[in-house]
This record gives sequence, C-alpha cells and structure tokens, in this order.
Amino acid sequence: MPSALDLQACDAPIFEPASFRLAADEAALIDKARSFGARVLAPRAAQHDRDATFPIENFRDMHQEGLLGICVPRGDGGAGASFRSYCLAAAELGRYCGATALSWNMHVCSTLWTGALADDLDMTAHERAVHNARRKQHYQRIVRDGAVYSQPFSEGGAAAAGLVAFGTEAKPVAGGFIINGKKIFASLSGAADYYGILCTERGEGETASRRNTIYLAIPANAPGVSVTGDWDPLGMRATVSRTLLFKDAFVSEDEMLMPRGVYYRAATSWPHMFLTLSPAYMGLAQAAYDFTVSYLRGELPGTPPVKRRMYPTKQIAVAEMRIMLEQTKALWFQAISEARANPSKAQVLRAYATQFTVMENANALAVKAIRTCGGQAMLKGLALERIYRDSRCGSLMLPWTAEICLDRLGRETLYEPGEKDE
Ligand SMILES: Cc1cc2nc3c(=O)[nH]c(=O)nc-3n(C[C@H](O)[C@H](O)[C@H](O)COP(=O)(O)OP(=O)(O)OC[C@H]3O[C@@H](n4cnc5c(N)ncnc54)[C@H](O)[C@@H]3O)c2cc1C
Repeated sequence: MPSALDLQACDAPIFEPASFRLAADEAALIDKARSFGARVLAPRAAQHDRDATFPIENFRDMHQEGLLGICVPRGDGGAGASFRSYCLAAAELGRYCGATALSWNMHVCSTLWTGALADDLDMTAHERAVHNARRKQHYQRIVRDGAVYSQPFSEGGAAAAGLVAFGTEAKPVAGGFIINGKKIFASLSGAADYYGILCTERGEGETASRRNTIYLAIPANAPGVSVTGDWDPLGMRATVSRTLLFKDAFVSEDEMLMPRGVYYRAATSWPHMFLTLSPAYMGLAQAAYDFTVSYLRGELPGTPPVKRRMYPTKQIAVAEMRIMLEQTKALWFQAISEARANPSKAQVLRAYATQFTVMENANALAVKAIRTCGGQAMLKGLALERIYRDSRCGSLMLPWTAEICLDRLGRETLYEPGEKDE
C-alpha cells in the first residue's frame, strides 16, 4: 500500500498545464510548489495548527528551494514569476497547508507589488531610479539571506477597507520616519524579519490623507517595535497573526518599499493586487474535494480501507462538489490571467466576483465534504476539519471581504463613477 507521502506526491496539478495552456516555465514552477507542498508542508501542518505556532522551518526550506524569491525579478536573483504564475503556485501550497500559503502570500506581496506590479505603474524617471535601487536591497536580503517579510495593514477600523487614512503614522525626520501605531492580525508576527506596513505620512500640522499612504519595511528588531496579545483563533492558526505595536520606532527612508504616492497609484490602477489573498483558499477548495474523493473510495492514508462510494446520495454530493470546484477554478483562472494595470470595468467586476466565489466556495466545499464523508472524517487526526476551519477565514480578509465584494459589485454595476441619484 502506498504511504501518505507517496499519495500526496501523486496529486494531479490543480490546473493541468496542457488544458490550461500554461507556459513550460510556469508549469515547472507550479510543479515545484506542488511537490514542495506535499513533501514538506503537509507533514508539518497538523502540529502547527494544533499548537498555533508559526512554521518558520517551512520558510527556511522555501529559501533553499528558491520559493522566497519567486516574484523577485530574474535580474535580481529571483524566479521572476508573473502575477498569474505566483497565484497558481500559491494555490498548490494551499492544498497542503493553508496557513503557510497565506503567510507566504504576505511575504511574496512585498516582492510582487514592488516588482512586476510596480513596473506597470507610471513613475517619473527619478521615482523609478530610486525605487529600483531601494527594492534591490530588499530583494538581496530575501534571495541571499532568506529574509522573511510580512504585510500587516489591518488596524481594526475602516483603513484596511480602503475608506480612510491609516491610523499608524510616519512622521518625517532627518533620514527617515518615526512610526507610531498599531496593527492587528499581523500574520508572521514575531517570525518575520521585516514588517511591510502601510501607514500615513504626516508632518507637523498636516491632516491625514489616504493619498499620503506609504509602504515601509520596518526591521522586526528595531527599537520601539513589539508584538503583543494572544493568538488562539478558529482557523489559519499557524499564521500567528498577533498585534504589532510601534512606539517611536525609527525607520530609514531607504526602507520605503514604494516611493511616495505610488502605493495609492497601485491600489487604484492595479486592483487585482488585492486578489492575492485568494490562492491559499483556491488550494483549500481543491483539498476539500480531493479529500472527499479519496475518503469515499476508501483510499485516504491513515484510515481503514472502507469504501463509501456506492451510495447514490454521496455520488450526487461529489458531483455537486465537482461542479462547484470547476466553476470556481474557471472564474479564478480567468481573473488571474487577465489581471493587469488599468483593467476594464468588466475585469474589475469579475475580480470582485472571483474573490467572493473563491472565499465562499472554499468553505462551502469543506462544509459539504464533512457532511458527505461523515463523522469519522472530521476527527482531528485528519486534514478535513483543519481545511474546514481554515477556509472559514477567507471571506473575512480585508480589503476584499465577501461583503465588500458584494457591495462594490452591486454599486459599481449600477452606477458609473460620479453618477448620483437626484
Ligand atoms: C487568519 C487571518 C490572518 C490575517 N492576516 C493579516 C495580515 O497578515 N495582515 C493584515 O493586514 N490583515 C490580516 N488579517 C486581517 C483581515 O484582513 C481583516 O482586517 C480582519 O479580519 C478584520 O477584522 P475586523 O473584526 O476588524 O473586521 P470588520 O469589523 O469586519 O472590518 C473592519 C472595518 O472595515 C470596515 N468594513 C468592514 N466591512 C465593511 C462593509 N461591508 N462595508 C464597509 N466597510 C466595511 C468597517 O470600517 C469595519 O469597522 C488576517 C485575518 C485573519 C482571519
């Protein structure tokens, strides 16, 4: 009988390269992620979930595999993955450990947003030169030293939803900024080497404005930076998303991840940047389905070889799950393939519909998997109950929560920019 690891190594790609017409280098990268997920992440996932500990050894291993630098441009020593290639690779990791895939996303965005996305944005020649010089130092730390970055934006109010200026403030001083504020749900807190925060630059007497949002990498060991609070959530426990406090923390100007004004430009002209939280959940959706098929066939490693596939109600449930999975995959693949700067209105609306669909369907598939497989399938010794809990978190992720996607889809379909009712 094959071992659990043999079976996992045999999982088919979520997006079969020939059918989805993936380029050879894209397919190779995704294959690497899938095999890494099965071989390295899967065996460690349960314990980190149970103990709510951060799997830092996964990130050390990702450094060795070149996965920490997946979106670092090739010229800077990385794999130069595009937005789509990254999303496809991250979905493969999400199948085996949702929390690692989600935390990896926070790290990778510090390179994807400053790399391929920033290359698409309008910048003056001076801004571009300064940006390219600064990002080089971040990329070097990652590629050479294995530095891990995180992305703590949330503050508990409307800022992470994109409605008001961030309450965390950067006061300009000679050579850099003094940072004061608080970030909640900071995945990789206490584990990352740099916290890539969004904050509002505000000089004496100035009013806070979203346009003055700056994106800064704060060294985790800088004086004035601390991690506080407990972490005992329902799901995605291994992200260890505790609270970060900044009390008069000095950060050098060279730690700007984007020049002044460019984050605001990115958020408005490259909206698919916010779809990067979805791949981990696409992977969880696939994992819930895979589990069900394997369990009903009596082939799930670690369980008795009892078949349950002969009951018509279970066959119908699997058919419904397959339909939901194919619908989710098709929409997601379209959205990640067409992501670009200055997308059309239809593309933006499709991006909201995609985020909503992936986040809601991942959990709906896990719910159905539990009902279909039955009681023994939700025992903590098996992965399904973790998939169920992890997938529940997807629709809460700002700025594109399921509710906010619904709000925007409705409003932006019915109103053109600037249109009002009398
Ligand atoms: C496992 C996990 C890991 C996370 N990791 C990170 C991370 O690394 N970095 C990070 O920045 N965040 C992270 N988050 C946080 C996440 O993105 C949200 O910010 C967080 O879940 C919001 O919690 P809340 O209770 O403040 O949300 P809510 O109260 O739902 O929302 C916060 C505010 O957003 C606005 N808002 C919410 N819904 C609407 C709506 N429908 N219409 C208009 N405004 C609305 C309101 O002003 C509201 O007060 C993580 C969350 C989880 C669950």
